[in-house]
Amino acid sequence: MVGVAIFVAALLVTPPWQGAQRWWQLSLILSLALIVAEVRPIAISRGMDEPPDQLTISTPFAVALLVVAPLSLVLTVQTVAVLIDDVRTRRPWRKIAYNLAQYVVSLAVARAALALAGGPSISASHESFDHRDVLPTLIAGATFVVVNYLLVALVVSLDTGESFREIVAHDARFTAAMQTVLLSLAPVTAYVAAAQEWMVLLLLLPLLALHRNAEQTMQREFAALRDSLTGLGNRKMFELHGQRRLDEANAERTGSGRSGPTVLLVGLSHFNEINDSLGLAVGDDVLIEVGRRLSATVPDDALTARLGDQFAVMLDDDLPLAEQLAVTLLHRLETPVELGDLRLLVQANIGIAAALDHGSGVEELLRNAAIGMHDSSQHGVRVSVYTPDARDETRDRLRLLSELRVAIDENQFTLVFQPQISVTSGEVVAVEALVRWRHPTRGLVYPDTFIGLAENTGLIAQVTAVVLDQALGAVARLRGEGHQLRVAVNMSARQMSDITLPGLVAEALARHGVPPASLTLEVTETGILNEPARVDAVVRALRDTGVSISVDDYGTGQASLTYLKRLHVDELKIDKSFVIDMRSDSGDAIIVRSTIELAHDLGLRIVAEGVEDAATLALLRRLGSDFAQGWHIGRPMPEPDLRAMLSNRARRRLTVAGQD
Ligand code: C2E
Ligand code: CA
Ligand code: CA
Repeated sequence: MVGVAIFVAALLVTPPWQGAQRWWQLSLILSLALIVAEVRPIAISRGMDEPPDQLTISTPFAVALLVVAPLSLVLTVQTVAVLIDDVRTRRPWRKIAYNLAQYVVSLAVARAALALAGGPSISASHESFDHRDVLPTLIAGATFVVVNYLLVALVVSLDTGESFREIVAHDARFTAAMQTVLLSLAPVTAYVAAAQEWMVLLLLLPLLALHRNAEQTMQREFAALRDSLTGLGNRKMFELHGQRRLDEANAERTGSGRSGPTVLLVGLSHFNEINDSLGLAVGDDVLIEVGRRLSATVPDDALTARLGDQFAVMLDDDLPLAEQLAVTLLHRLETPVELGDLRLLVQANIGIAAALDHGSGVEELLRNAAIGMHDSSQHGVRVSVYTPDARDETRDRLRLLSELRVAIDENQFTLVFQPQISVTSGEVVAVEALVRWRHPTRGLVYPDTFIGLAENTGLIAQVTAVVLDQALGAVARLRGEGHQLRVAVNMSARQMSDITLPGLVAEALARHGVPPASLTLEVTETGILNEPARVDAVVRALRDTGVSISVDDYGTGQASLTYLKRLHVDELKIDKSFVIDMRSDSGDAIIVRSTIELAHDLGLRIVAEGVEDAATLALLRRLGSDFAQGWHIGRPMPEPDLRAMLSNRARRRLTVAGQD
């Protein structure tokens, strides 16, 4: 209202069309400069964690125009400039109206200040701008800037309810510094305009160069916070912007008990394998695709970043919404990634952590989300919200892991041996070596507790090397005492695609002087199905040296018999889950019987494990199983017990033979 009134008044007093020809040219050029400057603000970085400020560089032109042209013309030109800029950037109409009013008022006040300070009067006679005009121009300029600034602060204060004083204080120093520089150009502009109007356009050039330069700086800063591969943010960005969001949320929180913001951490379960087996380029493509799906799924205002092979998302929402998003995200990631003729299944786990108290920072939230993520993969669920329990469990696991490292260094492992008998002769023909960890404080730790951990952390190769060494050592001793035995050693799935394995095995056999035919390596079906081409090569190389391969836990995986035949394995170990109840469960019995028949047709030998009583052993004999292993025959036992058992049996055989 005030703005409109001033505008109308100015038009009536000195209409823009009233004046000399010269003003027209001059005003036209200054107006042009003003409009260009208005739509090319300089972006000014205020540090990476704050949005950039926009500094309008039109001040010198507006003030110069104020000095040399009628107020009505200045207002018209400024209005056009503001309109062009605001409409171009799609500001809401209310905001545009505020903006216009604010400019009109501040220019009018500045004009009054100019007159009070004895500035050049607009008259045809006063054609040049001399040194006496400099100070009034500066005063008018300063008035314009200050009034403008205060009006903006007033509007913001009315709009947000924040204290006017605080808003004024917030940016005062920064604005003062910037505007002082621009204001110093105002008298220069007016001087040049009075002397040779078209040269004003030359003044525009350095300012536009500044605009350009600032824009590039912003782009560089932007790039420093981006992940170049996926276009998402990087860790630095997540930490900076995330912390700001947390601070804002803390400031707003009024003990409502509402959780949030929340952090989701998305981990890809088999990413390392993809990288290792298919190459880094494929790995990159997978990350790009996951990033794309992630961006398409999360809300627009979510903060997203790639952290190595993990993705982090910060939401302003609370836990229930975050969980909902996690489920949607997993659903989107389930669709296989198609890369050329490759179809890759990307499996993900998501951990969620919420900022519940004022203490949590970005780093802590990420750490808690990571614990949730590990927890979810441990428990076979796909999404897990961080809880202190999960934290304790993760801590326990980490402690166990560090103890496992020590165990390897100090060789705290020992082996027990479980006998396998020939079903027909009853003779012990082999033993399976089973590892035990003699833990300094926990006592005897069973493999189920630590083998999985060793597999997930790459320590399994060292554990296997120790087991192989000890097993071959024991067999060499027993052979030396006249007990001809095979020994079976368990391999972990991953190791079967390790091409150095055959060499290591051959070397261990040679070291202990044990013939390769006395060693069987047991591997589960999953181990064989994983990376078939490489496993094929490793199995071939092992069998070429004379070592035999057994498929452990047969029947629990998905390997077809024909596939196993093609792979040239030697033995199937029917899983104990089918054997234990096969006398009472006819389904189990059928599986055992048909497996034995098929295996024999394919030329494979059969071991039935989990034989817990004499009747089962008798049934297996009827069904034609070659070997049997289980508690009924013997529990896993230390080497001295095994030696005693073997000697007893040998003696009994001798006595029986003697009686014949
Ligand atoms: P596995 O290879 O299937 O080993 C057989 C497991 O069944 C052993 O448990 C054995 O004690 C148990 N068992 C033997 N006879 C019977 C029976 O009649 N009834 C029942 N209910 N159970 C029986 P253990 O020693 O606790 O080993 C568990 C698993 O740990 C093994 O399963 C194997 O997968 C893994 N493992 C053991 N030693 C090693 C090793 O040196 N390296 C690797 N990679 N894995 C190992
Ligand atoms: Ca086994
Ligand atoms: Ca088994």
